[in-house]
Formats: sequence, structure tokens, C-alpha cells
Amino acid sequence: MKINARGTNQQASAPYNRRVVLDLIRQQGAMSRKDIVDSVSLSPQTVTNITNDLEAIGLIVSRRLKADKVRGQPPIEFMLNPGAGGAIGISLENGKASAALVSLVGEVLQRRHVEVDTADPQRVLLAMVDLVRELRRGAQERIWGIGVALPGPLVATEVSFIGPTSLEGWSDLSVIDDLRHATGLPVFYSVDSVAGALGETLFGVAKSLDNFFYLHMGMGLGGVLVDNRSAYRGASGNATEIGHIPVVKGGRECYCGNAGCLERYVSLYSLAEALGVDNGGIHECPISQWIEQADQPAFAAWCEQAAACLRDAVCTIENMLDPHTIVIGGSAPKALVAHLVQLAQPLARSVRGGVAGAAQRIMLSEHEQDSSILGAAVLPLYDMLSPRLDVLQSERRSEVDAAELLGQQRLAGGL
Ligand SMILES: [Zn+2]
Repeated sequence: MKINARGTNQQASAPYNRRVVLDLIRQQGAMSRKDIVDSVSLSPQTVTNITNDLEAIGLIVSRRLKADKVRGQPPIEFMLNPGAGGAIGISLENGKASAALVSLVGEVLQRRHVEVDTADPQRVLLAMVDLVRELRRGAQERIWGIGVALPGPLVATEVSFIGPTSLEGWSDLSVIDDLRHATGLPVFYSVDSVAGALGETLFGVAKSLDNFFYLHMGMGLGGVLVDNRSAYRGASGNATEIGHIPVVKGGRECYCGNAGCLERYVSLYSLAEALGVDNGGIHECPISQWIEQADQPAFAAWCEQAAACLRDAVCTIENMLDPHTIVIGGSAPKALVAHLVQLAQPLARSVRGGVAGAAQRIMLSEHEQDSSILGAAVLPLYDMLSPRLDVLQSERRSEVDAAELLGQQRLAGGL
């Protein structure tokens, strides 16, 4: 069994230890008390206190395994409580707001989406409030909070909030505070690529990976390096905005003011542009059919160029960051991403070539929908689910965070 983290027997670290144990149970699926004691350096009594606390809050449940005639008392096994409640994830993209109610174990319980003029933050706020109201109406579970994923960069820079792949025209994120006031729920937010990486880390293909690069392909293209389950953020929190790396000399003009940026070739926006459809229309295109029949010249030409740019991007990412793998997710259709990856073969030579097999160099998200919705939903849960508080954290948290919510359960010591 993999040892994920070590607890500490100092009294002051009770909150940390609870997260260590909770995260361990989440990762392993089910664990006996002895397994937990063996995996974290905590005394059996401390582990017993923690599992009692977590069970009292309702975050974990236990079941007694079958009786072992030789050893007497059968062991008890702990697992996350699927009925412990959920959180709402909202993903914003140009022209569209998607939301889902997600359980503590990453199950999507309900899903909604709505088209909205994202250039108007007040309309987006109203759309989000409606989505939350609808999802809450059908929910039996406790809602721990709301997470919102937005296209970056979110920290004010000269390339923030500009261009059709961003939330064009926004000047700040005050709608996040407005959403909290309107719903009365804790609200967290994150750039969509980080939320997507979080979704993959907790519930997706990156579950067992300590190190990977996540490429988020939606209307735009974002990226994030995850190392030791932390997102590398850079000096101002905008690291690895890979969409605006120039890849084609003298290439297409980009809304950031440069030319030949990667996002101008590898994004749904660039595909929509190549096909002459609007942003909403791209989701209606029979992309799987075009891939199978290979009879749509404009689509085929776009794919060829996009795949060539993706091939260069993979080489650059690997040579710069040496990630264990590159996971590609986002709102782009899975069939399209798989097609581009196939066209990009053989991958260029890099520091990962010969080290990782071709299948390991790029992995595709298995989430049918945008994993950033799932990632957004777990932002409010993440403090509970991970012992690494600095991990992939939201840019800013509300006044009431998940830890405080747990405190409201009158846990001795609080989390
Ligand atoms: Zn650009």
C-alpha cells in the first residue's frame, strides 16, 4: 500500500491528521483501522479518535467485515460516505454556463447548462443563481458550497479578460462575492485549467499521479503543472497559460496582441473560426461523424494544423517540465481530442521520449463532460479531502470555508 502522507501525534495538528486520514480513505476506497495505522505514523488511539470524529460528522461510514473464526473480532472497514452531501460546480465559458451537483465521492448527481451572454457579468450572475436554485431544488443532500471555474488568466494582466476565449469585457470577479450573497453558500473559484486538474487528481486519470501537466482544451487552451499534488502558480498566479505561447512565426493575429499563439490553432474557438460557425454552433457540429468519414475538408485541414501545433506543444512542455504525463481534458469533445492526439503521432523527440511509453506521454480525460465542472465542485470539498491545504487551491476563498463548516458540527478541536 502506498503511504501518502504522515500524520503527526502532536495535539495541535488534529485538523491536519483528520485530513490525512480522510484523504487516505478516499484514495484507497476502503480501509481498516489497522491499515490506516500502518500507513500513517499515528498511534492506534489517535486513529480511533479521528475515525470516530469523521464518522460522527457523517463524512465516512463503516462496515464490519465477515467474521474471521481464527482471529475472533472481525475488523471494521471505513469508506467515504456517498450520502455525506455534495457541492455545486459551475464552469463558465464564453456564451455558456454549465453546472453540476457532485457528491463527495465525485459522482455527478445532476447536471444543467444554459447559454448566456458572458460579456455581461450581471447576466452571468443571474444565470448562476438560477442554476444553483435548480440544482438545490432537486438535492436531498447537504450542499457544502459552490465552486466556479473560469477561463484565465484571472489575475489582472495585459492578457486578462480579453478575446473571445476569455470572459471578455470583465474587469474583476466581484460576481463571485455577489453569488455568495445571493445563495448564502460558501463560494470558491479557480481558473478552469486548475479546476480541471483538480478534478482529474481527485476523481480521474491522474488519481495516482504525483506529477503531470494538464492541458485544458475548451473554447481556449489552458494548462497547469501539477507537482506533488500542487499546482505551480508562478510569481503572479498565472503560470503555464500555454494558450498564448507563440508557436507559428508570422501566424494568425491573436487577441492578446501577439501573433501565432498556440490557442489560435488548438482550441474550439479556432475550430469554429475555421468552419465559419459561431461559438455555440461548434457544439452542434457532427465532429465524430466527420472524423469517421473524413469528408469535411475544412475540418480535416484544421485538424492537421492543430495536431502539428499540439505535437510541438507536447515537445515544449516535456522538455521544459518533464512531467510524468500530459493529461488532456476540457470541454472539447473527447473524440476530437483523441483524433488530434492520433494525428500528432509519432510525438517529437524529447526528454520524455524513451523514458515514458507513447501511451504514457499523453493521457485523455475519461470524463464525458468538462472535468473543470467536477473540479469546480470539489473546490469547497477539497479542504476536507486533502491534507495539502496549498494544493490546487482556489484563488480566493469565501469567509466561511469547508473547515469552518466542519467546525459547525461541534467537533472537539475543530478542523
Ligand atoms: Zn495570444
